[in-house]
Amino acid sequence: MATNTREEYIDWIRDAHGMEMQAAKLLESQIGRVDSYPELKAKFKEHLEVTRRQAERLESCLKRHGEDTSTIKDAMGKMAGVMQTFGGLFPTDEVVKTGIASYTFENMEISSYSVLIGAAEHFGDAETARICTDILREEEEMAGWLKSNIPNVTHQFLSRAETGGPAKR
Ligand code: MG
Ligand code: FE
Repeated sequence: MATNTREEYIDWIRDAHGMEMQAAKLLESQIGRVDSYPELKAKFKEHLEVTRRQAERLESCLKRHGEDTSTIKDAMGKMAGVMQTFGGLFPTDEVVKTGIASYTFENMEISSYSVLIGAAEHFGDAETARICTDILREEEEMAGWLKSNIPNVTHQFLSRAETGGPAKR
């Protein structure tokens, strides 16, 4: 029996929507925990707004495919377990671990949108392909910023730790 690939494709969009809802929650909590790192905090705030718009655009894709809001909500729980790995622990080098987790998360998003672009093209869904291409660029921008700034955040963390400042946050 052949797989219903179209349903699988819709599931992937739903998963991406759930991923963005979790990303927003994660960013909200991170913003409150990096007060000593104003550049990182500002970037997280900026990306939270970007993330909320991404969730809205994915919701529009699901609605165009006739998916209702209740099925969208189901996907939010599905991703929750995966994200707890990133969000649950607060070690002393928390800001460093946050950097690693955030960069990992952005790269997971990049791979997810690369899949969705291919699938959207496969099904001739030009609007979703366009939206996912735009979102992919936003995730690449965030990943690039983190890659460039993680060394400096690490340096700041170590300096603060060595002088007895509030290194953790
Ligand atoms: Mg995102
Ligand atoms: Fe992102």
